[in-house]
Amino acid sequence: MGQASTLIDLRSDTVTLPTPQMYEAIARAALGDDGLDGDPTARELEAHAAGLLRKETGVYFPSATMANLAAVMAQAGRQEVVLAHDDAHIYEAERGGAALSGAVYQGIAGDDGAMDCNALADALASNRSKLRVALVCLETSHNSAGGAVLPLAHMAEVAALARRVGASVHVDGARLFNASVALGVSAAAVAEQADTVTICLSKGLSAPMGAVLVGPRKVCAQARTLRRALGGNQRQVGIAAAAGLVALRTMIDRLADDHRRATLLADGIGRLAPLRAKAPQTNIVQVDTAGTGGTAAQWVDALREAGVLVRPWGRHLLRCVTHRHIGDADIAAAIAAFQKCLGQAGS
Ligand SMILES: *Cc1c(COP(=O)(O)O)cnc(C)c1O
Repeated sequence: MGQASTLIDLRSDTVTLPTPQMYEAIARAALGDDGLDGDPTARELEAHAAGLLRKETGVYFPSATMANLAAVMAQAGRQEVVLAHDDAHIYEAERGGAALSGAVYQGIAGDDGAMDCNALADALASNRSKLRVALVCLETSHNSAGGAVLPLAHMAEVAALARRVGASVHVDGARLFNASVALGVSAAAVAEQADTVTICLSKGLSAPMGAVLVGPRKVCAQARTLRRALGGNQRQVGIAAAAGLVALRTMIDRLADDHRRATLLADGIGRLAPLRAKAPQTNIVQVDTAGTGGTAAQWVDALREAGVLVRPWGRHLLRCVTHRHIGDADIAAAIAAFQKCLGQAGS
């Protein structure tokens, strides 16, 4: 292709590169052996994340996937039940973790990433398996629901149902700051109902890697032990944690720009009937190609030829994600590419 640099990459906000300030922080970071007596920069990141989300403490992880798995394993035992929305990342993309945790994952139906609370109450009440429900997981913003944000009242209702049976609440907040920015509330307010929260540093926040699990001291101590068992102990991890600190200190407010551009993109595509795009709440735009007769796979190929990278998210569903490297001109160019491909499909 030889034109990689000119492609507009809407596949994911994970493609974001570290900022110049991150490289500077990496060069200056105080380092130690995180598996031995601790890395000072990782400690600082853990404390900063816990402070932001108003939880007791935090544990740095190589990825949000590993942080979620440790959160599950620390709070649900073998043959205990973990409930999550049936389109949640934990339930869909990370369910292989069940083979490691021995926990029983059960999906709960619902719209826009929110579990149907009646279905949740039924699942909590019916106990034909005699297995204890140990953990209820929420996800906000919700990846597969096109970046939908859970209403805080819904999170409170789910937490109340969980607490009634003695279950803990985990929030997969890989994009929690997208949710807090969209709601116009603090990250701590979004995290309020949760025992434990995972945040990912390498999505829209642009750090090259890493996630933090925050929660009660006791659970986090267990999660730290599990991190070792899972091979997640790293050594001079302050190299990565330094970028994560810059991410949390400087990259949250600008997520509003990504949200604004996602709305511009959805508006533009929405004018290209029979393509359809739902108004996004955050930085993820789902485009329905069914009306064009083209499958998502065909659209992905055609758009790539037109200089735009997107991902298939269902037979007729495309996923477009805005992020720091996507400016207003890229949005205009992406809409033009959709229009061009639509013309080709019709000819
Ligand atoms: C990306 C994502 C994860 C996993 O994050 P990694 O750091 O890539 O492992 C978990 N949950 C949600 C909702 C995500 O979007």
